[in-house]
Amino acid sequence: MPVLVLNCGSSSIKYTLFDSERDEVVRHGLLDRVTQYFAAFEELFNTLESFLPEGLGSIRAVGHRVVHGGDRFVASRVVDDDVLSALKEISPLAPLHNPHNIRGIECTADHIPDVLQVAVFDTAFHATLPERARHYAIPLQISELLGIRRYGFHGISHQYVSRRALSLAGGGEDLRMITCHLGNGCSVSAVRGGRCVETSMGFTPLEGLVMGTRCGDLDPAVVLQLLDPKGADLSWDEVYGLLNHQSGLLGLSGYSSDVRDLLSAREEGDANASLALEIFTYRLKKYIGSYHAVLGGTDALVFTAGIGENAPAIRMEALAGMEEMGFVLDPKANEATVGTEGEISDPVSPVRILVIPTDEDRLIYEETLRVIGQNS
Ligand code: ADP
Repeated sequence: MPVLVLNCGSSSIKYTLFDSERDEVVRHGLLDRVTQYFAAFEELFNTLESFLPEGLGSIRAVGHRVVHGGDRFVASRVVDDDVLSALKEISPLAPLHNPHNIRGIECTADHIPDVLQVAVFDTAFHATLPERARHYAIPLQISELLGIRRYGFHGISHQYVSRRALSLAGGGEDLRMITCHLGNGCSVSAVRGGRCVETSMGFTPLEGLVMGTRCGDLDPAVVLQLLDPKGADLSWDEVYGLLNHQSGLLGLSGYSSDVRDLLSAREEGDANASLALEIFTYRLKKYIGSYHAVLGGTDALVFTAGIGENAPAIRMEALAGMEEMGFVLDPKANEATVGTEGEISDPVSPVRILVIPTDEDRLIYEETLRVIGQNS
């Protein structure tokens, strides 16, 4: 039975068609520069039809990545009218993402009437954060009124790699894990026995690590300074753009958000590229160290996503000097593990250090099967 996974963004639609009997991918693809959603969906479903001998009607279910589930959705859900209207109410919390996810759900319903649709949330894995990790120290009344709290993102990826690490490390119920998703967006999670207890992204995906173009942690007074009519006097939109699209590795280096570019520029002696990478790995080290404390020790550390899977130098620099805390890399294994799964810690290392390629579509597919299994 075919199961379709969709990840609908502002200008792209990523899709993966699975065959659930064989448990394998039939077709994976991307439509980019999408301006007209309905037309893009026509194209998508025309393409898919050629891979479906029994037509679109044979699709058993469609699983969607939905970025924000708010407080209401702490697990994957079949999308019915109530769920759809609740998603629309949550939309202002993730104005750049959720409206596109919702449009994807509506376009799917237009093209394949009555197909079962399942929403899988990027925030859901973080629903287990304890109160102390959720709150910002601003007046509770205000945060409760406005829904301001740590939600956490990249949950689908953190859940996928932590599940995989649990089966590789075989550590049982209390395995203490730190998972580092280092892609264009970057986040770290602390996971105990498969449940997330802390994560670096917060109210929005802007908090935490240095990212490709996002600043991560910042003194909130910097924002006030940028907005100050007597100072920089930037508009809200300008500040938003500065912190989200012009900061991070791009802002620090002055020319690229891509770690590959910065690594080669550093080789050629570019001081800004070198500083940008140093700030990136230093921030990562601070998070790994603090989550080590949060967990009271670490059994496994996982690297994933574009940088985590492919950049041994970044992994090595982030962990340099942490040997006495139990993080001992095997330099050869680290160098050799690029784009594949592997263990990169020294055999004597108290913490097992793993590289696990993320596979968000597989997790959405598995969640979709699980949820429709419960509902049939
Ligand atoms: P997204 O978060 O958009 O899914 P990815 O997980 O694909 O992104 O990560 C993209 C980033 O990974 C790139 O911007 C680049 O910095 C980094 N990257 C990809 N391949 C390599 C590589 N071989 N070496 C170092 N960094 C890499």
